[in-house]
Amino acid sequence: PEPILEVRGLTVHFYTYAGIVKAIEDVSFDVYRGETFALVGETGCGKSVTSRALTQLIESPGRIVKGKVLYHRDDGSTIDLLKLSEEEIRKIRGREIAYIFQDPHASLDPLYTVGYQIAEAMVVHGTVEGWKEGFRKAVDILRRVLIPDPENRVKNYPHELSGGMKQRVVIGIGVSNDPKILIADEPTTALDVTVQAQILDLMNKLKKEYNTTVILITHNMGVVAEMADRVAVMYAGKIVEIGSVDQIFKNPLHPYTKGLLRAVPNPLAKIERLEAIPGTVPNLITPPKGCRFHPRCPYATERCRSEVPKLKELEPGHFVACHLY
Ligand code: SF4
Ligand code: MG
Repeated sequence: PEPILEVRGLTVHFYTYAGIVKAIEDVSFDVYRGETFALVGETGCGKSVTSRALTQLIESPGRIVKGKVLYHRDDGSTIDLLKLSEEEIRKIRGREIAYIFQDPHASLDPLYTVGYQIAEAMVVHGTVEGWKEGFRKAVDILRRVLIPDPENRVKNYPHELSGGMKQRVVIGIGVSNDPKILIADEPTTALDVTVQAQILDLMNKLKKEYNTTVILITHNMGVVAEMADRVAVMYAGKIVEIGSVDQIFKNPLHPYTKGLLRAVPNPLAKIERLEAIPGTVPNLITPPKGCRFHPRCPYATERCRSEVPKLKELEPGHFVACHLY
């Protein structure tokens, strides 16, 4: 497999009045061309921060303090996305690397029609000749995201659409410029359970049609099982395990991953809540020394309390950061 992204040592801190929040620390992973790569973990584990940092989408008081995000373009060139100026990264964000966020209400502007907002995404990046072509293409895009009666729907304002329809529009904006990488952050979490499955099906359909690489951010192992090829499990700002969906579900190695999976008796059942692993997610201003999971880990030893475990490859493609191995 050929990587499209190589993330190395990515570290993001938030400089708050209460102290420095070490939101993600030394995060490294590859994303392969054409795959769906899931980042999974509990709220606050750093999965959203990681996905946003890939294109420098970190706002003050956050700062990317270290790391590289090597992006291998179709033309064979490689660029470090973290070295680009704001102007340069803006040309890539929304064009080659697009985002879909959790809440469609917040993603759409209530004052503009959905057609306008889809057209605008293309006009801004110059992927259409002008507004006229943009509006024409917006109808096509609504059709591709399976919105009925697209010729009329294109003139609707967001409030005239249901939550599921709005998220289809947001996904349409995401794919409008035919991005190479689509980053979807909890794309179904804000929706009714019945609509969630339809949106996941739509994403799989579009991924095939557009041949896009997808990075999926989720806290739901059922969604991972259904959508992903490979998974990185995050805990308290660190990646603790990476593997194929098969490796992670059939042979989880990290005690945290095992805990997550105990919550999912049938991984294909869409279970919303992860089992509460005893203990709470640590405060990231003063994270636990050594392995950040040690206060919650039934196997913790002295070494775990002092030495940070490094990611090691235990079988081809299966990495774990734990002193047990
Ligand atoms: Fe548990 Fe130690 Fe492994 Fe951390 S390194 S998960 S504390 S056994
Ligand atoms: Mg999040």
